Amino acid sequence: MTLISSTPLLVEARKEGYGVAAFNVHTLEMLQAVAEAAEESRSPLILQTTVGTVKHLGIDYIVGAAKAAAKRASVPIALHLDHCQDFDLILKCMHAGYTSVMIDQSMHPFERNVEMTKKVVEVARALNVNVEAELGKVGGVEDDIHVDEDAAALADPEECQRFVELTGVTTLAPAIGTAHGIYKGEPKIDFDRIQQIAARVDVPLVLHGGSGIPGDHVKRCVSLGMAKMNVATEIKNAFSLALQRSFAERPDELDPRSYMAGAKEIVKALAIEKMTLCGCTNKA
Ligand SMILES: [Zn+2]
Repeated sequence: MTLISSTPLLVEARKEGYGVAAFNVHTLEMLQAVAEAAEESRSPLILQTTVGTVKHLGIDYIVGAAKAAAKRASVPIALHLDHCQDFDLILKCMHAGYTSVMIDQSMHPFERNVEMTKKVVEVARALNVNVEAELGKVGGVEDDIHVDEDAAALADPEECQRFVELTGVTTLAPAIGTAHGIYKGEPKIDFDRIQQIAARVDVPLVLHGGSGIPGDHVKRCVSLGMAKMNVATEIKNAFSLALQRSFAERPDELDPRSYMAGAKEIVKALAIEKMTLCGCTNKA
């Protein structure tokens, strides 16, 4: 298959009451691991990269590898650009083959967020690319975006409705109490707010900060309309810790294929775990 827009995957997920897991990948092995997890568990998949990873690997390498994964797969795969504030980079990624993008203007006033999102939606429509936008402010650290806990703000349901109507955005990430990174305590998810937003907004909702949310909370979010769950920190840490363990246990091992293979298996198992939690296994 070829890379497809994430819109149909997420519309179907919201309609059927499951979530599609979206994984931030930083290396070829991480990308392969989540693609193999999707194939094995018959799950639709969203591969994601942050702007930092675009700078690290290059758009062409990322699109090339994602296209190769899609070609091998019998399950649908989309390629998404996570948290991008830069309109020109969004254009570049869309034209290079990304099938989904996030325009993140959540740090700006509502009107500016609307205006920028609308601009992206106009271009994306012509290219059949999904657009995700954020309302409220998700706290924590994602790449070079830092949002202090005090500055984090939950999305207003009425504003969410107006935002979707004004922009025509195809997926919405409302801040509902989750945060980026690993939680110190249990996240304070505002389930009522998800329900209120879902009642006013038809488009699939996106759960950011999916790392470390207790399983029953994930399931509840998904059942309320969160059709996409982002997992970044947890698989990044699992991959790195597996490498560190390998270096510690086998300091004489100098073949990268050997230690990468172990780390890949760990990421793959974790990805299947997250897909199972979202309920998207056997949905492809
Ligand atoms: Zn996020």
